[in-house]
Amino acid sequence: MSAQTVIAAEQLTCRFGHFTAVDDIHLAVQRGEVFGLLGANGAGKTTTIRMLCGLLPPTAGRIRVAEVDMVNQPRRARGRIGYVTQHFTLYPDLTVWENLQLQAGLYGLSGTAARQRIGWSLEHLHLAGKEGLPAGDLPLGYKRRLSFAGALLHRPQALFLDEPTSGVDALGRAEFWELIYDLAEAGMGILVTTHYMDEAGFCDRLALMHAGRVVEEGTPASLLQRPLPTPLLQLRSDDNPALVRHLSGWPSVQELIPQAGTLRLRLRPGSVVADFCAEVAVLAEREGIVVQDCQPIAPELEDVFVTVLEEVAAAKEETVT
Ligand code: ATP
Repeated sequence: MSAQTVIAAEQLTCRFGHFTAVDDIHLAVQRGEVFGLLGANGAGKTTTIRMLCGLLPPTAGRIRVAEVDMVNQPRRARGRIGYVTQHFTLYPDLTVWENLQLQAGLYGLSGTAARQRIGWSLEHLHLAGKEGLPAGDLPLGYKRRLSFAGALLHRPQALFLDEPTSGVDALGRAEFWELIYDLAEAGMGILVTTHYMDEAGFCDRLALMHAGRVVEEGTPASLLQRPLPTPLLQLRSDDNPALVRHLSGWPSVQELIPQAGTLRLRLRPGSVVADFCAEVAVLAEREGIVVQDCQPIAPELEDVFVTVLEEVAAAKEETVT
């Protein structure tokens, strides 16, 4: 573990009875790094974060946060981290200011120091002017800002964000990401979970979780270099609905997604885009459809993750049979 490592987990495991929610994972997040944890519902992201934040004792494994052992010195370690939970956990009947004051007190801040930090958080989270409103009356985006503001009061070295932008509009999401970058630039190590694939691309590094395990890890650029067995292509014609009707039954088509004015296709492994386009041209001629575009396209992170999960499922099937 380097001196720059702010969040480190080794062989981290969590079992609930016979069910293993997190299975022997290793993570290391550096100072100034935005690390994304991805995975479908139930993959184990929240359970991982709860262990890393000292809210759930691991069944096995080691956790160090900001150079403190979370398992042996949880109080000390918790003082160095901020955690923005997936669901709103502040007090709805208290005002924005009262919520922040209460939270400042929990972090041992009082008097001028507390007022200064609350002022800083309000300003950075664009909450100035909302101090007197009951937290429960705030729209969802503002509730998330308030949770975020509370998590930053004590200048944490590590920040955990569990789906911080879920339910937030596009502008609000962009603002959150600007703030995340600012905090990382100031030296914080940030671990964020998200369902949004575009946000995955904003992270410095990513880990994909599935069934409690990290099944793939890397920078967005390195993941996009991963060779994919399923060729990708884009099709555009003067009658996309008719093409969809014809192509959905073709054995070489693994996935067909209509997108604004175009069709995005994943072909089965072994297919060749040029051959496929030639077959589409024959079909189009026969059906009187004008194909304006048929060409290979570069993969996106979602394509990489879909492939990884298909490979994991195939490997599992092989072990079962
Ligand atoms: P989501 O995006 O829906 O929050 P997640 O990836 O964060 O999903 P977790 O909430 O960590 O997933 O849950 C992982 C698995 O552990 C799920 O199958 C969940 O039902 C199970 N689980 C979580 N907490 C408990 C618990 N206290 N007791 C039993 N099972 C649990």
